[in-house]
Amino acid sequence: MPEPRRRLKGNVTTMKAVVFKARDRIALEEVPRPRPRAGEAVIRITTTTICGTDVHIVRGEYPVRPGLILGHEPVGVIDELGAGLEEIYQVGQRVIVGAITPCGQCFYCLNGSSSQCGGALGGWKFGNTINGAWAEYLLVPDAKANLAPIPRGLSDEEVVLCPDIFSTGLSGAESGGIRVGDSVAVFAQGPIGLCATVGAKLKGASLIVAVDTMPERLAMARRLGATVTLDAAAGDPVSEIKRLTDGRGVDVAIEALGRQETFENALRAIRPGGTLSSLGVYSGKLVAPYEAFYAGLGDQRIVTTLCPGGKERMRRLMTMVEHRRVDLSALVTHHFALDDIETAFDLFSHQRDGVLKVALHPAVSSSQIDAASNRGAVVVPGAHRPR
Ligand SMILES: [Zn+2]
Ligand SMILES: [Zn+2]
Repeated sequence: MPEPRRRLKGNVTTMKAVVFKARDRIALEEVPRPRPRAGEAVIRITTTTICGTDVHIVRGEYPVRPGLILGHEPVGVIDELGAGLEEIYQVGQRVIVGAITPCGQCFYCLNGSSSQCGGALGGWKFGNTINGAWAEYLLVPDAKANLAPIPRGLSDEEVVLCPDIFSTGLSGAESGGIRVGDSVAVFAQGPIGLCATVGAKLKGASLIVAVDTMPERLAMARRLGATVTLDAAAGDPVSEIKRLTDGRGVDVAIEALGRQETFENALRAIRPGGTLSSLGVYSGKLVAPYEAFYAGLGDQRIVTTLCPGGKERMRRLMTMVEHRRVDLSALVTHHFALDDIETAFDLFSHQRDGVLKVALHPAVSSSQIDAASNRGAVVVPGAHRPR
């Protein structure tokens, strides 16, 4: 179906997009629509979402250049292919793209650190160093390594967490080296912590302790695989974790918030020889207390992970959804038109109304979404289940 094309001056076609203007200021603007060069593709976004990292960016805690289109969680339809991709992909194909888009060919990619493609954090390009997914159209670099076709029968909502949240949460469990029968504690049960809880279950943990202060998030953690939940506001979670593990501490703790307190609790919660797998985004200085660190002699491992991307990672995650090994659709709690980004961002950043993730739909108007709750199902043009 041909899209309505709006023209700027000359021959430039435009699209609407959400642009970072300055600290605490984003704006919906009409901007030039991208065109692919060789090896690149343009996808029409049908669904995207807001990440905690976007909140850091808008608040000025993580610097990006003014004028950049934000968002790094794209679900869409291939709209245009640059040269060299015709034999692999087709226009009209439904795809997702990871938040991390490695080139697949540089020093880091070929050394197995593709999230660090080209240099520190270099795999994270969308909404960081190049235009992102909060737009009608998205330019995908190195498309051959990054366009991941959506299996038939899966809806946008079922796969929208694969580009970042599911990949990140699961990677916390993977990097922690969880083995069958391990005891695991996951600190913070936001969307990423919840997916780390899912990851601990998938990796075969026996005891899975989920820690948070919000009752609805702890309830969701139980639904997704936590065997014990602890309200960190009601008492010291570390002493309870020690009690649950014969005084030893857990084999693996996953930190999913990025604060000194949760990092420290995760370190205190692991046994000697245990692993702290850190997913949080920190700012400022991080301190490891002497006694929790066993003066540096406790055989502990501290590992950090940036969400793995690329099309093969996306394929693996989507097959887990396809074969009903995971169902994360309950984490998508709200829907908004992209036009209502300000309202959506306000709700998400202040964690109101039990929000976990909000789905943003560039091709849907506000009136097509149940304004009373923004919780109704949405029929997204082009994003229907093809079966
Ligand atoms: Zn993110
Ligand atoms: Zn690379």
